[in-house]
Amino acid sequence: MFKFFLDYSGGKEKNGRGPVTDELIRLVLDSGHSSNISVFVLAVALIVMVRPIIAPVVWQGWLAGMFLLFLLKFGAIFCYHGKKKNSEAGIQTCVRAYVFLIFLTGVMWGLGVLLFFKHNAIIEQMAVFFIIAGLTAGAIPILSPLRKLYYAYIAGPLLPFVCLLLHYGGQYYTIMASIMVLYTLMLINSATRVQQSLITSLEMSFANEALVADLRQASEEGEALNLELITENDRRKATEDELVQARDAAEAASRAKDEFLANMSHEIRTPMNGILGTLQLLQDTKMDGVQSDYVKIAYSSAESLLSILNDILDFSKIAARKMVLEDIPFSLQALVQDLVTLLTSQAQAKNVALVAEIDPRVPEMLLGDPTRMRQVLINFMTNGIKFTEQGEVRVVVQCLSAFASRVMLRIEVRDTGIGISEKKQHDLFQSFTQADGSTTRKYGGTGLGLAIVRQLVLLMGGKIGVESVPGQGSVFWCELDFPVAALGAQDEEKKAQAPQAEGVLQGHVLLVEDNKVNQLVAGKMLAGMGLTVDLAENGEKALAALAENRYDLVLMDCQMPVLDGYEATRAFRSREVQGEKRLPIIAMTANAMEGDRRQCLEAGMDDYLAKPVKKELLRKLLGQWLGPVSS
Ligand code: ADP
Repeated sequence: MFKFFLDYSGGKEKNGRGPVTDELIRLVLDSGHSSNISVFVLAVALIVMVRPIIAPVVWQGWLAGMFLLFLLKFGAIFCYHGKKKNSEAGIQTCVRAYVFLIFLTGVMWGLGVLLFFKHNAIIEQMAVFFIIAGLTAGAIPILSPLRKLYYAYIAGPLLPFVCLLLHYGGQYYTIMASIMVLYTLMLINSATRVQQSLITSLEMSFANEALVADLRQASEEGEALNLELITENDRRKATEDELVQARDAAEAASRAKDEFLANMSHEIRTPMNGILGTLQLLQDTKMDGVQSDYVKIAYSSAESLLSILNDILDFSKIAARKMVLEDIPFSLQALVQDLVTLLTSQAQAKNVALVAEIDPRVPEMLLGDPTRMRQVLINFMTNGIKFTEQGEVRVVVQCLSAFASRVMLRIEVRDTGIGISEKKQHDLFQSFTQADGSTTRKYGGTGLGLAIVRQLVLLMGGKIGVESVPGQGSVFWCELDFPVAALGAQDEEKKAQAPQAEGVLQGHVLLVEDNKVNQLVAGKMLAGMGLTVDLAENGEKALAALAENRYDLVLMDCQMPVLDGYEATRAFRSREVQGEKRLPIIAMTANAMEGDRRQCLEAGMDDYLAKPVKKELLRKLLGQWLGPVSS
């Protein structure tokens, strides 16, 4: 029942309770003091006016009842205000008591109407009429927050009033009863409207409060987020700084590695030059069969060592992204034929046939890096020969597509050798990988060759792969796209590759070299080729010799004490008389890292020969610069 009086919206708030209901109850109880006093004053006023026609015991009893209600209502209000901060259950009890007392007050007023509205006592009737009208109208602002309580309250006096008037009957009382009914409807209407607007404004104010709370929360969350972002930003910056430091450290380490490699390369190549050179000189001396075999073994071992050194250098160059490819005209057919000629004896020694099959549509001249292309083919072919016990190794060059300016080639090296299991095929192109451990024992090798070849092919923008059946053979292939070189380039290349006379050379050569062994080896090689050789052990002495004598060619070491080869060349070129025939200066250096060749050319040298120097290569190069004398 109490819920019925307190439920403002018929269930908008859960269980008829919520902030709006609480507020409506608070409004009613807050104005409780004044309304209670007013009601009691009206009761007293009524008694004062009707007392002459009413028996004292009746009005005294009624007034006493009203006074009791007056006290109890105060009690309920005090209890409500006292409990407000404490228990919810206590508040409920106070509110219920107050609602009940209001209801009782209404009933008391009804009783008052019945007791004091006497037939034919016009003045007293007027008093009752006005007081009830005033009471019910005055209760609108006080009780309308709880509309249904208000209805119950005014029903207390008005219902008996109307009934009494109708009971008296007659025109006068009937009109009064009608007025009373109309008046009641008006009161109900006003109370409904007042409550409605009150509820609307309360709802809006609560919605606003919720909005403000939401906004505050959002702003707090925003601030927290902002703080988090700032912290995150700081963390990122710190990580970035760490990364930069790590990168700098890695770059420094990489530079140190490159320097180390360059130094190692130089340090190893210098004695290798001595070993290979001396062995080559030894081969030219008189030896018996056994001695000559020993020298051959020593020479081929030294060459293997050099090829491993080259592999490791290539590999680190690629890893450091320092491998730069050339783009010059070359003939793939000539390259393949060259390699077949070169490796035939190796294949024949194993009773394996080595053949080449070249698609006639392959253009004669392509643009690319012949040295690296040669490296790829040599790796495929030597592996093919190495891992084939009988049958053949076949190099097949197919033209996949040919346009006037570009050509797509597939180069395959097929063998009938031991083959590779499918499982191992995937890892073959990784560094230091061999098909199985026994391969190393039986065939040797570092497992770097294919890894380098793969990187080279990728650098050339191509694809690489293997197909193999164990026991039947393997096909190593690569597909490459080459620009077709313009006509005329062929002649240039032919000129460049023209075989030089094998015979004696003629000329006066200045050998600039600080290492005693290399002085001896190179000196003997040059003398053996028929050249006159002067020796200078550093750049300074070379400049002095050049000032005194006329030379046909200078072989210049790069790293030397006192004055290095670069400085000496620069100094010589700056003094060279314009218009005179240019003196060829050829670098002969153990600096085999990327950029060394460029550095030599920039210093004013004309060509470059990496140590260890091979006699035939040296002869060929000198032949190109000096020209042959006789065969
Ligand atoms: P390695 O210097 O050891 O030959 P490679 O990278 O050139 O290094 O070759 C790696 C391994 O791949 C070899 O050790 C061998 O097991 C396998 N392999 C390469 N070519 C062939 C082939 N034609 N037939 C069989 N196995 C091969």
